[in-house]
Amino acid sequence: MRMILLGPPGSGKGTQAQKLIEKFQVPQVSTGDLFRSAAKNQTALGKKAKEYMDRGALVPDQVVIGMVEERMKQPDCKKGFILDGFPRTIPQAQALDKMLAGLGMNVDAVVEVDVPDQEVVRRISGRRTCRNCSAMYHIEFNKPKAAGKCDKCGSELYQRDDDKEEVIKSRLKVYHDQTAPLVEFYSKKNLVKKVDGIGSIDEIFGKVIGALGAK
Ligand code: AMP
Repeated sequence: MRMILLGPPGSGKGTQAQKLIEKFQVPQVSTGDLFRSAAKNQTALGKKAKEYMDRGALVPDQVVIGMVEERMKQPDCKKGFILDGFPRTIPQAQALDKMLAGLGMNVDAVVEVDVPDQEVVRRISGRRTCRNCSAMYHIEFNKPKAAGKCDKCGSELYQRDDDKEEVIKSRLKVYHDQTAPLVEFYSKKNLVKKVDGIGSIDEIFGKVIGALGAK
C-alpha cells in the first residue's frame, strides 16, 4: 500500500492515517510531524522549517523533498507507506514520482478528503496535539480522557501555533493555490478517490477503506 492522503489542513488526514497504518501495517510519513519533531530538537532543518510553519507558509520544495527522500530510504518504507501532508505542490509530486521510480515503486492511490473551508476553521481551532507523540485531539469532538493530557502517553497537549485562527486562513489559501492542483495532476493518472470528509472518524474511515476497494 503506497498511498497519498490529500486534503486541506484539518480534513482529518492525520487521524485517518493513524487508522490506516494500523490496518495496513505500513508507516505514516507526515512531513508536518517530521518538521515539528526537527523543530522540537532544534536542528538546523527544524529551525528553518519553523519560520515557515509559524506563519502558515509552505517550507521550500527542496527542503521538503530532501527530507522525504531520506525517510523513504528507511527499510520500513519498503513494505509501503501512507503519505500525509506530502506532496503539497506540483514540483513535490514530480519529485516523488522520480524518487519512487528510482526505488522501483509507484503510488497506488490518492485519497482526497473533501471538507469545506468553514468546517476546517471550526475543526482546527479546537485541535490539540500531544507534545510528545503528536497524537491529536479536539476540545469538542475528540476529547482526551483527562483534560490537557494525551491518552496514549500522558504528555501535555498544546495548540500548535499554526492552528490559531488567523494562521488557518493563510493555510487554506495556500492549500487552494498550491496543493489543490494536485487533484488534477493525480486524476490524469487515474489515482484519485474522493471521500466526503464530514462525519465521525469511523464513518470516514469506512469511506476511505471502501474507496480503496479494501475490506
Ligand atoms: P501539517 O501538519 O501537514 O499541516 O504541516 C504543518 C506545516 O508544515 C505546514 O503548514 C507547512 O508549513 C509545513 N509542511 C508540511 N508538509 C509540507 C510540505 N509537503 N511542503 C511544504 N511545507 C510543508
